[in-house]
Amino acid sequence: MMTIMSSQFQPVLDRIASEIAGTPARGRPADYIPALASRDPRSFGMAVAEPDGTVYGVGDWREPFSTQSITKVFTLALDLAREGAELWEHVGREPSGNPFNSLIQLEYENGIPRNPFINAGALVVTDRLHSRTGDAAGELLRFLQAESDNPRLSFDAEVAASEARHGDRNAALAHFMASYGNIGNPVPELLDQYFRQCSITASCADLALATTFLARHGIRADGTRLLSRSQAKQVNAVMLTCGTYDAAGDFAYRVGLPGKSGVGGGIIAVVPGRCTLCVWSPGLDERGNSVAGVAALDRFTTLTGLSVF
Ligand code: GLN
Repeated sequence: MMTIMSSQFQPVLDRIASEIAGTPARGRPADYIPALASRDPRSFGMAVAEPDGTVYGVGDWREPFSTQSITKVFTLALDLAREGAELWEHVGREPSGNPFNSLIQLEYENGIPRNPFINAGALVVTDRLHSRTGDAAGELLRFLQAESDNPRLSFDAEVAASEARHGDRNAALAHFMASYGNIGNPVPELLDQYFRQCSITASCADLALATTFLARHGIRADGTRLLSRSQAKQVNAVMLTCGTYDAAGDFAYRVGLPGKSGVGGGIIAVVPGRCTLCVWSPGLDERGNSVAGVAALDRFTTLTGLSVF
């Protein structure tokens, strides 16, 4: 079995960045949220964080980008920490096999979304966190600031407004679930929370650090416990099976780690007990996952042997 020392992370990252730089196919930035469309698909950054807070990085690893659906991991953790297993009566934990913004399963599954990482499921989680805290997006932002030790993390008002203007599909999902009694807050208030949540801007370094509580089996950066060991295992498991939507099988096959993507081009991944990763490159494939991001994580687990399998 291959073993890798921490000191080997930097050469591995450097090697991956130079391999990626030689790859022409990079996908296309998301254009259904106009504020994201202008990012350069050749941008590439990658960071690895260790449980003690040491971070290694390469390329644009300190460049802020739009976190989008990556935030769904953190709202899930924050809500699960508060309400525990009751959450699973309102959202499932099965892969959907459908695009992240699909409406199709919701009617025949009575307004209960398949999992917390498709948009419908994330709306339910944010709604429940909002009911408990009165400020779901603020709660999330403060958590990310604390875990990344970066108080400058913030919402991007332009991205949130852009998404709100083009948010008919998310509005449809929220109204439809409300008709089944699975949304507690007024839909416009929930959408405002959700769009602000998705608009948070952070770098690979910030997000790799913010994810380390999952590599530490639920323990936050300050040593306090957010999730039980078992809950941290559950979040990692749902990331593995549902974190990259209808490409989760292919992601598990290629990367072999719990991961979560966002249409801003970022992907976070966890090697439980060992390290966390965040990679960013804005060009997406047709399922909404970063082309260079998946390729880089694939190379990382291949080169290091660090995978859950
Ligand atoms: N804000 C985006 C949306 O709701 C998030 C989707 C994503 O990153 N996959 O459509």
